[in-house]
Amino acid sequence: MKKNIKDLSLEDLQEELKLIGEKPYRAEQIFKWIYQDNVSTFEDMSNISLELRKKLENNFTLCIYSILDKQISKDGTKKYLFDLSDGNAIETVLMEYKHGYSICVSTQIGCKMGCEFCASTGVGFIRSLSAGEIVEQVLAVERDENVKVSNLVFMGIGEPLDNYNNVMQAIKILNHPKGINMGARHISISTSGLVPKIYELAEEDMQCTLSISLHATTDEKRDEMMPINKTYNIKSLMEACKYYIQKTNKRISFEYALAKENNDNLEDAKRLVKLLKGMLCHVNLIPINKIDNGNYVKSSNENILKFRDYLNENGVVATVRRELGADIDAACGQLRKKVLRGE
Ligand code: SF4
Repeated sequence: MKKNIKDLSLEDLQEELKLIGEKPYRAEQIFKWIYQDNVSTFEDMSNISLELRKKLENNFTLCIYSILDKQISKDGTKKYLFDLSDGNAIETVLMEYKHGYSICVSTQIGCKMGCEFCASTGVGFIRSLSAGEIVEQVLAVERDENVKVSNLVFMGIGEPLDNYNNVMQAIKILNHPKGINMGARHISISTSGLVPKIYELAEEDMQCTLSISLHATTDEKRDEMMPINKTYNIKSLMEACKYYIQKTNKRISFEYALAKENNDNLEDAKRLVKLLKGMLCHVNLIPINKIDNGNYVKSSNENILKFRDYLNENGVVATVRRELGADIDAACGQLRKKVLRGE
């Protein structure tokens, strides 16, 4: 079976070239064609000898996605459903901010975590994506829109830390100066709270931002919203976060999706302050996305602002995330779910 060339770091590619009787220095040229010129075929690598192009063709795939569906929001947010070569589909979202383009990528086909408010729940878990399948989401969007993406968040379908090695390899590839050259500071990894992996991440020497999907301040509520909490409760999650901060000296971002009469009252805000006060962190308040059959309704704008003000007045820095793509199926997993159901 041919290997996906985008699964390989530059060093891996150098080794692979040796195995097919080629000089390792060719790897840099190939890497440039793939990540800087974003070519769709080996044929397009015009300064590579015909013989080597043939060898590449025989040994590797370039993993080029085709677009199954694309939705465009009034605010310019674009949501893609990409066709994988094995018949599966994944979602990727492109958002435009003042500072440039940001992409939200998926890391798995489906998700095992079962968060109550997530459209991916109920569709099932199929498999994790390889590093190359993660990286190709960036390249496919850049080819389609003819833009350069400057920021990336691992917040699409899947739990990134449940696909740890491939996510780390994808970051290494995205980050490489001879390739896409996306600064690690512009990459954010979001987790539902896989505590052992947070400890593992703390030991990596990387500049990415860690985001924790917290969403509740009591174990009772969090157990209900995020079943992962039954394995790693809030106390163990907070201990891991404190260790991460102490080890990396990096600020953690806590995601808190506000759902009406669920986790948005003053008592919740007070408990959140108690949990986070004194920590090097920032809270992102998110108006929860409405999903089909979901039990959650978005908090009122007034309540969201009250919640934010309470946190800020009590020493926890909080901002409300701008809602993007509200008129399309922007909640992760929604578009894939629709297409799977043939709507
Ligand atoms: S919110 Fe994220 S971690 Fe939770 S089920 Fe959805 S994709 Fe998985």
